[in-house]
Amino acid sequence: MKNEYKKINSTEVPLLQVEHLEKSFGEHQVLTDVDFKVYKGDVICIIGSSGSGKSTLLRCMNMLERPSGGCIYHKENSILGKPAQVAQYRAKVGMVFQQFNLFSNLTVLENCMLGQKRVLKRSAKEAKATSLTYLDKVGMLPYIYAKPHQLSGGQKQRVAIARALAMEPEVLLFDEPTSALDPEMVGEVLAVMRNLADEGLTMIIVTHEMAFARDVSSRTVFMDQGIIVEDESPQVIFTEPKNQRTKEFLSRFL
Ligand code: ADP
Ligand code: MG
Repeated sequence: MKNEYKKINSTEVPLLQVEHLEKSFGEHQVLTDVDFKVYKGDVICIIGSSGSGKSTLLRCMNMLERPSGGCIYHKENSILGKPAQVAQYRAKVGMVFQQFNLFSNLTVLENCMLGQKRVLKRSAKEAKATSLTYLDKVGMLPYIYAKPHQLSGGQKQRVAIARALAMEPEVLLFDEPTSALDPEMVGEVLAVMRNLADEGLTMIIVTHEMAFARDVSSRTVFMDQGIIVEDESPQVIFTEPKNQRTKEFLSRFL
């Protein structure tokens, strides 16, 4: 069952909470007063034009950028000001990138094992078993000894997803996971993500795949010029958006 848009006023502690987030690069303000809560089981799609700050928001949540102002809480603990624990944090709040970011000199299996051994201190045996479980889940078991350059874009992205899942994160962030793919490979990656959503994985997905956002998200967030313009159920966003800017943005996809 799809997670409903119900928790915005919940008393449950959010998995992640962004409060009054600001980010500037020099003079250029990229995020302005962003407020955003993520609860366990949420599947949140973030949509918006190129340059609207979507990646910067995800990167702040993954500790790849340091906010200029505001707070980010992971289960009520601020993630700012604890630089020593970045790797541990990223094990819980994983990220999948547009460009896959696989280690090109390692095999598929080694890619999946590395973080588990280094960060989670799993034994090689345990890391291998966990990797195989998740590589199987994304249909990549036949390729465990391949190197990334031997794979298609869709296969690389499925490996990157398996590698992130093998860390058994609480939430996975996806930054345009299908934007670098040839069109015929988009479907296989979206199918994997749809399965994860059905299984209840908490996900935040920046995407231009509007049909996917409409069908799979429990909440859809529209960003424009560094501001969250609308944060609503996909029913509202895609059929009766309240904001004129949301309407204009979506009209380009008709
Ligand atoms: P989106 O992901 O929605 O396309 P981004 O978050 O990548 O948007 O970028 C938002 C704005 O911030 C853009 O104008 C971009 O040029 C700028 N920006 C992003 N990263 C940097 C950076 N490291 N240095 C300077 N400007 C940046
Ligand atoms: Mg981006």
